[in-house]
Amino acid sequence: MHKIIYRDPQVTIFQSALFQTNSTVVCTEDVVLVFDPAWLPDEVEAIRQYVESIRGDRHVFLFFTHSDFDHIIGYGAFKADKVFMSKAMSENPDHELCVEKCLEFDEQYYIKRPYPIIYPKGDFLVFRDGVQYRYGNTKMSFYLTPGHTADSMMVIVWQLGLCIAGDYLCNCEFPFIYHSSVDYEQTLEKLPRIHDRNWFTRMVPGHGDPALNINDWLQRRTEAQAYLFALRESIATDVPFDEDSLWSRYQFPRLQRKYHLDNIALMTREYEQGLWEWDPDFELTSPMLQETYISGAPPVDSDDEG
Ligand SMILES: [Zn+2]
Repeated sequence: MHKIIYRDPQVTIFQSALFQTNSTVVCTEDVVLVFDPAWLPDEVEAIRQYVESIRGDRHVFLFFTHSDFDHIIGYGAFKADKVFMSKAMSENPDHELCVEKCLEFDEQYYIKRPYPIIYPKGDFLVFRDGVQYRYGNTKMSFYLTPGHTADSMMVIVWQLGLCIAGDYLCNCEFPFIYHSSVDYEQTLEKLPRIHDRNWFTRMVPGHGDPALNINDWLQRRTEAQAYLFALRESIATDVPFDEDSLWSRYQFPRLQRKYHLDNIALMTREYEQGLWEWDPDFELTSPMLQETYISGAPPVDSDDEG
């Protein structure tokens, strides 16, 4: 079984039955680009066959947005002409653990695959923001986006106005912060700058629905910021975080509560280490959202004073 959730003449998004994980295939006149092929063996095989059916004599380039095991598990099924990833992903000191997680997952569900599970080997390593790669008329630019993991990156395909975002701005997940909330915040902050240099309208997150216009992904960005800042406020000032609001937005509390609690633990450690400070005067573009997660927060405006 495989599911295609979006299709236009050049872009096809496959979505796994597991965690709504997205795998994007882009076909230009020059080359076929495959991003994070995932997840179950039949799903990976469907993506592979689709790529074979459209490639003609084009080269196939494979991209990994980060090293989480769900995103690399399909690597061994593809014979790519070039593999793109961040330098940090290529040098991930825990790469054996990523492979181990794939193997653990497969064994847990008695899954057999017709290809080996191996850690992706990169040919083109992105080491700084704004690196570009051109192949014929196909031009891509790359940005480092640490925060979710240390080795996350985003890719923009220029002529299609398409950004492959990795595990950011997923409409089915609040921010999952495995690496650093400080880096996560900076990644969210630089998105409009990345946009201004590259003019993408559509954004495909690692999980959930693609954002098909600028307002959609800007709104998701504001929501992610609101979550981060509300958590910070809650940790720094002991104001309770309103979990009910969180679960009215996100539909999988039985799994996701663990990620929320992990975020709190990680950000509490960061706070104790002095990695961030709470700035009560900070205002989000949309202050209403910031209040969403804080119960009994005082009104932001104080018109009645003075
Ligand atoms: Zn993911």
